[in-house]
Amino acid sequence: MISTDRRPVADERLERFIRLMPKVELHLHLEGSVRATTLLDLARRYGVALPADDVDGLARWYACRDLRRFGEVWEAIVTCLRRGADFARIMRELGESAAAQQVRCVQVTFAPSTHRRIKSLPYDEIWGGIREGADWVERTLGVRLQFAPAFSRGLRPAGTGGDGSVEETLEFAVAHRGEGVVALGMGGYEPGNPPELFEEVFQSAKAQGLRCWPHAGETAGPESIWGAVRTLGADRIAHGVRAVEDPDLPAYLAAHRIGCDVCPTSNVCLGVSPSLEQHPIRRLLAAGVPVTVNSDDPPLFGTTLTDEFLALACYQRFTAAELAALVRTAVEVSFLPKDEMAALRARFDRELETAACETGVDL
Ligand SMILES: [Zn+2]
Repeated sequence: MISTDRRPVADERLERFIRLMPKVELHLHLEGSVRATTLLDLARRYGVALPADDVDGLARWYACRDLRRFGEVWEAIVTCLRRGADFARIMRELGESAAAQQVRCVQVTFAPSTHRRIKSLPYDEIWGGIREGADWVERTLGVRLQFAPAFSRGLRPAGTGGDGSVEETLEFAVAHRGEGVVALGMGGYEPGNPPELFEEVFQSAKAQGLRCWPHAGETAGPESIWGAVRTLGADRIAHGVRAVEDPDLPAYLAAHRIGCDVCPTSNVCLGVSPSLEQHPIRRLLAAGVPVTVNSDDPPLFGTTLTDEFLALACYQRFTAAELAALVRTAVEVSFLPKDEMAALRARFDRELETAACETGVDL
């Protein structure tokens, strides 16, 4: 975890601007948004033993410093999500965190087949809970939600030894297209699981009106991103930071306006980048890549979306104008319908101006 106490103090006006500015989050895992206190509560209800049974102890265990710990916490969260009502609760809590940070729109990803396989939870119960929570968030908090159900790339399509989970995730996404699902996602460990294995699945998703949103360029290098864009037709890449290792890839992403949903603190926690100071985000931006800033699994990395922007201000000297540009890019490369996107763009222009006036920063 990147301790926020070690963060150098940002310019006070810039810090206030960051807190006030409207935001979009395009890369947020529902399972990875579960607060330690919520996990503790669910574990007690279901009699699941955790490494700590008080909030402080669990918070210490929660703070991920490597992939192994991340996997342990993730598994505990998945184990404790047992009813539709649990999904409704974590969806509401995700919305509350977003609203408190001036986040106007979130693309949420989750892994329905994992919950189906591990706990025999029916797909309808999973989606029913998520949609119930989402309805409350949209109605009560005014945060717009879109969804990208995802499967793990460690799985295989049915014809090549898979258990049907990949196809079920596609069917799930297609079945709920009219209810906020906009894309098919793919996550998991990249080495040994190249995008090319899933060409047909994503072709089918695109033919049925879904966008293609795979993770790539996180645990593997540029070849994984090339596969995602060339073979799968990726509309946006979750992460994509390792594009900088290829001399031609950033220019390709820039020319095709393929966004990279960058998560700086996650990258440091999982060893993708050695530090926030050395994170390659500025190199991607310099090449013209449409970069967005996101929090991935915020409580697991001890971060929030606001903290990600503060980190860029502190460690890479991003100005208010540069941060505002990142937010505008997020609107542009989101999967919102065109009319909604235009309305949100106009709203952000007004809100960014107001935030700049109130805090005295230049845009
Ligand atoms: Zn992710």
